[in-house]
Amino acid sequence: MFTKGSKLYSIFTGACPKCHEESMYVNTNPYSLSETLKMHDRCRNCNTKYKIEPSFFYGSMYVSYGVGIAFAIAAFVISYFFIGTNKLTAFLAIVVTLIVLLPIILRLSRNIWINLFMSYDKNLAGK
Ligand SMILES: [Zn+2]
Repeated sequence: MFTKGSKLYSIFTGACPKCHEESMYVNTNPYSLSETLKMHDRCRNCNTKYKIEPSFFYGSMYVSYGVGIAFAIAAFVISYFFIGTNKLTAFLAIVVTLIVLLPIILRLSRNIWINLFMSYDKNLAGK
């Protein structure tokens, strides 16, 4: 499911959505905060242009809302139901989770967003 050729591979690794050969990001570590959203213009392997149109990635904000909610619910369920904290602590767990995971949420959203518009093309892989 997470092998090259599936959308999930590109979404979770940040690989080029068309060829899955290299990372879209200049720095593969999302916690290098000054470079979290710094991306290559084009894929060096298949020459796909990532920014299909100007401000293309603004659309990923809609996705990040959903991704953020998913992480928030997960944080609440884990702290409130599994660890058994009170509601205030569970709320704090949500806030901390969202802040700590922000770089990952931002990248996941971009990866999901671009994968809505582009699909894997095995002819481009390994060129
Ligand atoms: Zn590529």
